[in-house]
Amino acid sequence: MSGPQLVVTIDGPAGAGKSSVAKLLARRLDYRLLDTGAIYRAVALAAERGSIPWTDGAACAEIARTLDIRFAFVGDTNHVFLGEEDVSSAIRSPGISQGASQVSTHPPVRAALLDLQRRLAAGGGVVVEGRDTGTIVFPNARAKFFLTATAAERTRRRVAELAAAGTVVDYDVTLREIEERDARDASRDVAPMVPADDAVLVDSSTQTLEEVVAALAATVLARSRPN
Ligand code: C5P
Repeated sequence: MSGPQLVVTIDGPAGAGKSSVAKLLARRLDYRLLDTGAIYRAVALAAERGSIPWTDGAACAEIARTLDIRFAFVGDTNHVFLGEEDVSSAIRSPGISQGASQVSTHPPVRAALLDLQRRLAAGGGVVVEGRDTGTIVFPNARAKFFLTATAAERTRRRVAELAAAGTVVDYDVTLREIEERDARDASRDVAPMVPADDAVLVDSSTQTLEEVVAALAATVLARSRPN
């Protein structure tokens, strides 16, 4: 793509389709992809392995400050490495989903990861997905989106996604977990999950993935042109 290399942010709740949309959008724009949720997940995994409780903000922040995380596309999949180890599957378990949500409530953890996220996105030409990337991490991003879908639709998608990865989970349990995470993410004092004032709101419940990606790409391209 010609023109300036923007920072594009996609925020929204779990299961809204952010990961799929962000990946396809990045590919279409020939941009990099930064999955900030994977960073919080990696902190939760490293804490668990170090027998550090997710409720211990100071210790989790120390892990966040020294996190040796790297992303690499292997074929079509964005893999996450901690040191030399590929933790892409390990960070997606339901337990680590809860852990990531818990470690993300600690202000020192968020502060430590702010720097890391900005370093990883340096130079632009990147699609960033998360919860607060348009509000807190990249307030000056030129294209911001807030992607959502109904809780029922998000649960259905998460159950199918885990099933495809070989993990069978109960619909009602997953719905409850999603609602708990939403409530925690939206009500926390630090960086609550809310749309940025200048974010474009997109409801993916009634649109195909392709339709959503096409709409976002058109907006990014329009904003890439000089005024
Ligand atoms: O997007 P994903 O489900 O992988 O994120 C895992 C958890 O990390 C979320 O539930 C949220 O609590 C936290 N998170 C966050 N801020 C971000 C990205 C993720 O607090 N920018």
